[in-house]
Amino acid sequence: MKVDYLDKFSGTLLGVSIGDTLGHPFEGMLRDRIYSYFEDFKEYMKENKNLFKTYTDDTQLTLHTAEALIQGSGFNENNFVREYVSWLEDPPIGPGFGCISAIQKLKYGIPWKKAASKSGGNGTAMRVSPIGLYYSKDIKSLKNAALKSSVITHSHPAAAAGAIVIARAIAFLIDKSIETSFSIEEFFETIISSISNSQEKIWEDFIEILNRVKDNLNISVETGLIKFSQVGVKSPFFIEDYLGKAFVHPYTLSTVACAIFVFLKNLNSFENCIIQLATAGGDSDTVGAIGGSLAGAYFGLGNIPDYLKNIVKQHKHILKISEQLHLKFREKYKLG
Ligand SMILES: [Mg+2]
Repeated sequence: MKVDYLDKFSGTLLGVSIGDTLGHPFEGMLRDRIYSYFEDFKEYMKENKNLFKTYTDDTQLTLHTAEALIQGSGFNENNFVREYVSWLEDPPIGPGFGCISAIQKLKYGIPWKKAASKSGGNGTAMRVSPIGLYYSKDIKSLKNAALKSSVITHSHPAAAAGAIVIARAIAFLIDKSIETSFSIEEFFETIISSISNSQEKIWEDFIEILNRVKDNLNISVETGLIKFSQVGVKSPFFIEDYLGKAFVHPYTLSTVACAIFVFLKNLNSFENCIIQLATAGGDSDTVGAIGGSLAGAYFGLGNIPDYLKNIVKQHKHILKISEQLHLKFREKYKLG
């Protein structure tokens, strides 16, 4: 099968921004409450266009990751730091605290080893998809770049694991097509192997969680979200009203588990998939962005309905960056 990589690159980056844009108005809400607003999501979108006017930090930082790769023809620490610092001028929309505090320190010249926050949040998995695309034919470098791109702002091992798993999933999915689908078993084997053989206890926990997701693909989206929304969270500081409900925690392992679960439950259409992701509850924009990267990588731009492309602010700019990254990818692997 011949893959149209430009279609996949564009689908991935646009997938991030669509999921982020659709999830943004629902950030911090229970899934139950979100579903009380509409019966037909498409109608709701049409009637409430003002709610879906912008994407957030997830898309902004994904684009900066892509720019850094383009400038350096691959991972280069200085370019990444410079790009993430330049995000402060965008200015950031709805940033996570761990992420922005680390990047503010980088801005003042503090080396990343000291600047990185201890956060185990989903802020690095949400921006990693360009690394999964660019290094899709070089898995050793993919893991290395995903890890390094994570530790410059988040020192917690959960953040690094989430970034590696999502980058590896993207590399897997861009070579698949909706005509032939893919083996769920192979998908999990591939992403799990990317964080195997580690000394990190949290990486082992993550593998166990991913296996649990695989074993629960027969349950409904709602039940799965209740099951995985706060999976792996050890912090006692969480709003009690949301515990045990469909309300996705910003901890990397919970967000990544939910994004993968909802994506795999909706392999029938990009549209269904992205709507389910963006209405997950809790950190909805980031579930939308991470799951949207997976969905975009699998379905490709050609299978994204126009009305969803057009809802994204500056979507033409995103397509331009996708083209530039794709060009660098062709150069790297001498694809002509
Ligand atoms: Mg966000």
